[in-house]
Amino acid sequence: MTFFLLSIDTPTNLTLQRLPDQLMSQQIYINGEYLSKDDAKISVYDHGLLYGDGIFEGMRIYGGKVFRLNEHLDRLWESAAAISLKMPLTIEALASDLNECVRRNGHDEGYIRLIVTRGSGELGLDPFRCSNPQVIIIADKISLYPQELYDNGLELVTASTIRNHPAALSPRVKSLNYLNNVLAKMEGLQAGCKEALMLNHLGQVAECTGDNLFIVKSGRLMTPSKEAGILEGITRNAVIQLAKEAEIETLELALTRHDIYTADECFLTGSAAEVIPAVKLDGRIIGNGTPGPVTVKLNEAFRALVRS
Ligand code: PMP
Repeated sequence: MTFFLLSIDTPTNLTLQRLPDQLMSQQIYINGEYLSKDDAKISVYDHGLLYGDGIFEGMRIYGGKVFRLNEHLDRLWESAAAISLKMPLTIEALASDLNECVRRNGHDEGYIRLIVTRGSGELGLDPFRCSNPQVIIIADKISLYPQELYDNGLELVTASTIRNHPAALSPRVKSLNYLNNVLAKMEGLQAGCKEALMLNHLGQVAECTGDNLFIVKSGRLMTPSKEAGILEGITRNAVIQLAKEAEIETLELALTRHDIYTADECFLTGSAAEVIPAVKLDGRIIGNGTPGPVTVKLNEAFRALVRS
């Protein structure tokens, strides 16, 4: 939604000016209440803070609407079930609150961080003694990567930190415990790369720290399967669907770094990053070192999808 200031120079001269975004105060939702950024606070005894005990989603707002809202909420409910967190409201109520939060914050294009914490408890792990899970919705702006990287492609490095073993903490749970990814991200940044590749406990390609990974080889699209221990990205699924519609053969399978080094093209997907080309891994140039035709085609198809 765009906000306008109606200014009247003379009784017959009405002009509409767009209000600068800074003039609109951000309203953060906590358990049904709307609070300013400074007043939006939760207890220091919340196990979301104490132990990373909670779950979250990151979603995009396009044209004032939440992209793939149902899919995000289904994934949130799955994460909740996986950690035995009883959601304090129904999926329909949360969907309606999310839409209302977007409306109040007036973002036509933006990002939503939805968080559900375990709630307040004692200074001990026991989640069963926690009460009052906090449902938090932050609708804000996001710009993860500069345009230059969409035009020319990202450089990746393989992190030595492997992705969480699925039997320890399944990467399919989008939990507040993101230290695994944070440590790998740190390695990437220290090596001068904005994203880092994470392998799984078998040495296979899993995903990047906040994005799923695809390669193109001889016209076929390939991406690690869920069994590789990845987050099943909403953008990943949208891109797989778009590829099928474009009659691009798509395989979900086990990949190694060799497959990336020898691929024709590589790109990453995520709600924040959307579709972004990757042109280098561990100093090796992928394909001809520029965003390839399949990447460009799928990026355009994704842009058209989110605008539709
Ligand atoms: N993998 C990880 C580890 C992520 O955190 C994310 C989300 N940032 C993704 C993949 C991409 O998922 P989605 O397309 O649903 O944003």
